[in-house]
Amino acid sequence: MTDVDAVVVGAGPTGLMLAGELGRAGLRTLVLERRPSPSQAAKAGGLAGQILQLLHYRGELDRFREASTSASQPAARFPFGGLHLDFTRFADPPMHVMLLPQPRLEALLAERAAECGVDVRRGHDVVGLAQHDGSVTVEVRGREGSYEVAARFLVGCDGGRSRVRELSGIPFPGTAFPEIERLASVTVPDSVTVLDDGSLDVRDVGVIPFGYTATERGVFACSGSGDTMGVYTAEVEVTEYDDDVPMTVAELSASVSRVLGLDLPLGEPRRMTRFGYSAKQADAYRDRRVFLAGDAAHLFPSGGVAINAGMLDAANLGWKLAGSVQGWAPPGLLDTYSDERRAAAERTLLHTRAQVALRRGHGPAGDALRTLFAELTTDEQPLLRLGALMAGTDTGAPRSAGHPLVGAFATDRALHVDHEDPRLAGLLHQARPVLLDLADRADLRDLAGEWGGRVGVVSAAIDDPPADALLILPDARIAWAAAIDEPGATAASALREALTTWCGAPTVGVTS
Ligand SMILES: Cc1cc2nc3c(=O)[nH]c(=O)nc-3n(C[C@H](O)[C@H](O)[C@H](O)COP(=O)(O)OP(=O)(O)OC[C@H]3O[C@@H](n4cnc5c(N)ncnc54)[C@H](O)[C@@H]3O)c2cc1C
Repeated sequence: MTDVDAVVVGAGPTGLMLAGELGRAGLRTLVLERRPSPSQAAKAGGLAGQILQLLHYRGELDRFREASTSASQPAARFPFGGLHLDFTRFADPPMHVMLLPQPRLEALLAERAAECGVDVRRGHDVVGLAQHDGSVTVEVRGREGSYEVAARFLVGCDGGRSRVRELSGIPFPGTAFPEIERLASVTVPDSVTVLDDGSLDVRDVGVIPFGYTATERGVFACSGSGDTMGVYTAEVEVTEYDDDVPMTVAELSASVSRVLGLDLPLGEPRRMTRFGYSAKQADAYRDRRVFLAGDAAHLFPSGGVAINAGMLDAANLGWKLAGSVQGWAPPGLLDTYSDERRAAAERTLLHTRAQVALRRGHGPAGDALRTLFAELTTDEQPLLRLGALMAGTDTGAPRSAGHPLVGAFATDRALHVDHEDPRLAGLLHQARPVLLDLADRADLRDLAGEWGGRVGVVSAAIDDPPADALLILPDARIAWAAAIDEPGATAASALREALTTWCGAPTVGVTS
């Protein structure tokens, strides 16, 4: 029987991201993927949100940027429930996006995992599991017959119909919306002229305005740019489509006719996707040695957020599993994964469910809801708040009585420090907790030194320091912060408590 530290079930974006995190930490990691070869289905067109920042913190964004058709850039406008959020007014917008088709993203994540020594087996279907005191046994139907693997931990990253979730008996309550959305880019045919504002002037039909049009039969949206037009429809429909069966131009054309009641000429397809929406969340992301992440743990009823959420799950879980295998994880650390990421998914469910009401509301009441919402989002504060929700930086982390930064993502800042990458981002390449001393606090640095190499200690100056010192976790969240000029006694005891909570017992001379 093969014996590994971790089995990851599923080689989608979540499983491959997690495998890379575990491989980097030196864990013997096996990925089991049912498909014999990588899926080429046109699903997500890119990455959006906090995961871009996290890949940057890992020092790995360049790999993805080089394969992308765009740099990671601030999102100027982002769809939200049949409207567009316009972030152009912000010098530092809350959302970033990068175009990268999902098959390409998965190939790069697989490459990253392979570089860390992860074994990815394709054509290997997980059909059973059994939990024991110190291990999990996994039953696999492989290319050359059935076999078993023993692992310290198993993570089900096996998608919305997760077998791991089912085998573990974890309920997955929620709502499936009887709605199918179709999103395509096609070339502009001769009978259509793209106007300067993105509207389409269609021969014998007239002008179809840029943006969303709600009718009694659904929602239509279009945009034109150069020789390409984007077309979107949403209709009430209960058909279960196979993601591997691509949408055709004829299917899209029929949908546009039903929604708009007219024939829109369409050119050659460049990108065609079709999807349905559910709002579901697993009751728990952990059952003893088995964990769930990505679509296996949550499904959101609006677009552009799922991969971000799944890959952030992986970043949260990876270092905690590594700490458990390496033997330093404090009791309860693994449970923080389920608590934190369930709370984050609740925030994502909140705004994606709200988007369902916005885009599906019909008649004068629906129109009024959208008009009012559009008005509200011309104000900066609501727009920033929605941006943080969309980006996944609003994680629903309970605000502690301590420093207001605790629970927030550390934002990248220039540091005045003698370091090969003198930015905050450069400190997290190794995916280990870091004490960032911003006020030459030798007392705090010495204290963190008791945790040996498990905790990085960096002293730096920064313009307008937000705190005297920060303890930053490998997933870039701030676990503890010392207020400016906080006295040594209170700062040291709070730091010791935070280090013990997140990094276990010190490795050298424990002092009380
Ligand atoms: C048309 C379409 C468009 C989309 N657009 C976007 C978008 O713009 N932005 C966005 O963020 N998201 C988008 N999504 C959603 C996104 O594709 C998913 O959220 C994402 O793929 C989830 O990643 P995952 O790794 O959690 O699961 P998956 O990608 O579903 O991967 C799960 C893997 O597990 C494997 N597996 C399942 N069972 C087993 C088993 N028993 N043994 C071994 N392997 C198993 C599967 O074969 C699969 O490869 C879109 C989805 C669709 C369908």
